[in-house]
Amino acid sequence: ATPMAVMVGTGLGAQNGILIKDAAALEESVKLDVVVFDKTGTLTMGAPKVVQVVPAAGLDETALLTRAIAIEQGSEHHIAKAVRERAAGLPVAVATDFQSFGGKGLMATVEGRQLLSGNRILMAEHGVDLGDLAAESERLQGAGRTVVHIAEEGRIIGLIAVADAVRPTARQTIEALQALGVKVAMMTGDNLGTAKRIADELGIDIVLAEVLPGDKAAKVKALQDEGNKVGMVGDGVNDAPALTQADVGFAIGAGTDVAIESADVVLMRSDPADVVKAIALSRATLRKMH
Ligand code: ADP
Ligand code: MG
Repeated sequence: ATPMAVMVGTGLGAQNGILIKDAAALEESVKLDVVVFDKTGTLTMGAPKVVQVVPAAGLDETALLTRAIAIEQGSEHHIAKAVRERAAGLPVAVATDFQSFGGKGLMATVEGRQLLSGNRILMAEHGVDLGDLAAESERLQGAGRTVVHIAEEGRIIGLIAVADAVRPTARQTIEALQALGVKVAMMTGDNLGTAKRIADELGIDIVLAEVLPGDKAAKVKALQDEGNKVGMVGDGVNDAPALTQADVGFAIGAGTDVAIESADVVLMRSDPADVVKAIALSRATLRKMH
């Protein structure tokens, strides 16, 4: 094994926007059996837009958005940003007692009333019955939307559907990996309906949905325990432990600092297709080494 080949390999990577922090990643990359992609911000742009606002009977859209913005003002989550953008210009009520339920949503007190914002699991855990809106929530999720459910004082007051565009190179990346004999998984905190729809569109082999932030690393470990060499590609704070656990962790360059610090390889152009390039580069480098 020549250090020269490794230097050339990492140098070529850097020229192509692929920052290899750990030379061992070159050797591991060629052995990968499975590559796990995070969904939001990795396979998708991570800049969702509100596409539908569905107030419960008796409430108008503005009333729903006013409550949504009150609770989402304290969150840095991409969903919160989408809601704030859609509700721009509306008055923002003061919210107190913020509580964040990682990977599920938020709770806060607004004008003396308890507000909840998040997914179906959060609603179920707080005894909120979706009533007439259950079917609409289901339908939107089946269409690939992420649905934010808003409840006030334990009663559902509406739904806000957000959609996040898939990155233009996502599909070709997955096909290229499969052509190399690598299985492709998608892992997300989002619900199974939404995840399945996007996975079908992209031709993903394995779907891991409704995975809480603290459980992502364990899912990678489970794949390793089945005898696989596992690569993980992610952008978020919640992906960091999984990036560390993986045999090769790839961070999206536009992602969070903690993801970048936890990864072995940084994709500076934030293009998932660069995972395939990194593997090709590793193969070429190793041929020169042996
Ligand atoms: P991912 O793994 O795809 O990056 P997260 O684990 O960050 O997703 O979030 C999982 C789910 O939790 C979201 O799809 C959403 O339903 C809910 N959620 C998280 N944060 C918020 C928020 N600020 N407002 C509403 N819902 C939220
Ligand atoms: Mg993400």
